[in-house]
Amino acid sequence: MGDDIIDEVTDYLRYRTECGERTVELESETIAALRSTRNNGAEGASRAAGAAAPAAREAPPPKKSAPPEVDTLEAIAAECAVCAMCGLCNGRKQAVPGQGYAANPDIMFIGEAPGADEDEQGLAFVGRAGQLLTKMIAAMGYTRDEVFIANICKCRPPNNRTPTPEEMAACIPFLKRQIALIKPKYIVALGNTAILGLLGKTGIMRLHGVWQTFEGIPLMPTFHPAYLLRAPAAKRDCWNDLKLVMAKLGKTP
Ligand code: URA
Repeated sequence: MGDDIIDEVTDYLRYRTECGERTVELESETIAALRSTRNNGAEGASRAAGAAAPAAREAPPPKKSAPPEVDTLEAIAAECAVCAMCGLCNGRKQAVPGQGYAANPDIMFIGEAPGADEDEQGLAFVGRAGQLLTKMIAAMGYTRDEVFIANICKCRPPNNRTPTPEEMAACIPFLKRQIALIKPKYIVALGNTAILGLLGKTGIMRLHGVWQTFEGIPLMPTFHPAYLLRAPAAKRDCWNDLKLVMAKLGKTP
């Protein structure tokens, strides 16, 4: 019988550990029961514990410990939808987690943050800049459904301003989890916010076309499509950057 209390507490501690807890509170009866087990053997333990539940202030776990938590894109999207880690949650219609082919795609494109159209539709890069990105993707020989498209920040900043470092820092963990699940072969970082968020570097003018690495994944910085709409002369440089990615993937323009 003394084994029962030990089994129950062991299960409970295992469960709490899997929940990420590092400390637990045990009720005095439980501690007494455990002490009694140590001091008196099994008989004493069962007496001290009586029929009491194992420990804690929370409901005891099921006998069988819960399966380890498995991260999924759906879970990330659900967390984004209710996230309040920064002030951008106050102005969003909906979070925009990103979308596309998520099983080891050749390329993952990462932009800055949703704009008005994205906020409205819940999809990344569907406005004017998105239409240009679609053309860039097509020129590389892909459809939007064959690549993954996401942003550094999942919520729209007011008036489409650049996200603050605090907003970026609050949101980057979502993107990192997405990248870890999606495992793209190459990342294309679109613009200054993307390289700042992913690499901690500034200066897209200097860094575009220069291979970088993000957590072991080759990353090509290039211009943000919204910038290309304002400065079409930079399209040529951007295309050269994208061709470097295509060459790695064995694609010819
Ligand atoms: N600009 C971005 O960086 N991302 C979008 O999703 C749309 C515009």
